[in-house]
Amino acid sequence: MAFLTEPEPQRGVPLPVLPGIRRIVADNPGVMTYHGTNTYLIEGEDGLTIIDPGPPDDAHVRDILTAAGDMKIRRLFLTHTHKDHYGAAPALAQATGAPILSYKISARAEFSPDMGLDEGDVTGGFTVLYTPGHASDHLCYAFQAQDGRRLLFSGDHVMSWSSSIVSPPEGDMLAYYRGLERLLTRDEDVYLGGHGPLLEEPRKLVETLLFHRRARERAILEALQEQEWAVAPLAAKLYQKTDPWLKAAAQRNVLAHLLKLKEEGIVVEYGPDTDLHPDTLSFAPPPGMRAESRERTVLYSDSLRRFGLARRT
Ligand SMILES: [Zn+2]
Repeated sequence: MAFLTEPEPQRGVPLPVLPGIRRIVADNPGVMTYHGTNTYLIEGEDGLTIIDPGPPDDAHVRDILTAAGDMKIRRLFLTHTHKDHYGAAPALAQATGAPILSYKISARAEFSPDMGLDEGDVTGGFTVLYTPGHASDHLCYAFQAQDGRRLLFSGDHVMSWSSSIVSPPEGDMLAYYRGLERLLTRDEDVYLGGHGPLLEEPRKLVETLLFHRRARERAILEALQEQEWAVAPLAAKLYQKTDPWLKAAAQRNVLAHLLKLKEEGIVVEYGPDTDLHPDTLSFAPPPGMRAESRERTVLYSDSLRRFGLARRT
């Protein structure tokens, strides 16, 4: 796929992105986060807006405050409440007195925003798009840059460097498809994602992302023409991954597709297949998932879930 790369960005300092917009790349590199989470600082008439304070890291919070300098930080937007975007928000809110704004229904149990946002809200010059799929509380923010270009802060919904993980139950593949299809009807010139460099001509990548998801879905349906499948062996057949994390990520992805097809009435779910070959099962949490025992139990039972076509053709 036509993803972008960039050299490791300088740490701890704001890097110019576009006129009036800088980013600080947090020091949390990884398979899910690339060089780290992008924290954006956007200059407006009333001061600075921050999009995604970043991971819980005191040094990162200090770097944001230093970069702000004399400019007042007016608001902290979250694209979603995953830890690598939300973690620094409480400390930054405390240090600045700025409110935290995010989707009105938080996916993070211990957190609710100071101001809940919803589709179509306009605040500080930003227009809110509700884009669940990667996360149930995912928002994108549309904004006009000083040079007149139309921007979309696209979070982890669309990233220049990688496709997004869609892991049920919080991740929802049908919503993710709809969110991508919707972006094709919009006219933003540039996307600024949660990780990776800025993306020009963004609809080309959105089309490519949809194309690959649809191809994966066709492969799943072809396999189901032959027989019923449990998630784990179907993922093993389609992905051939040996790395336990990648194997688990593949299983989450296959499950997400199957649940989308189920919601559309194309496949049905049967009782779990408890007699699977242990080689196909993966107990490692995929990157980005927490590794608590409860999650491992969910990973295990999800991998046993079994699906078939609603009607064989
Ligand atoms: Zn992220």
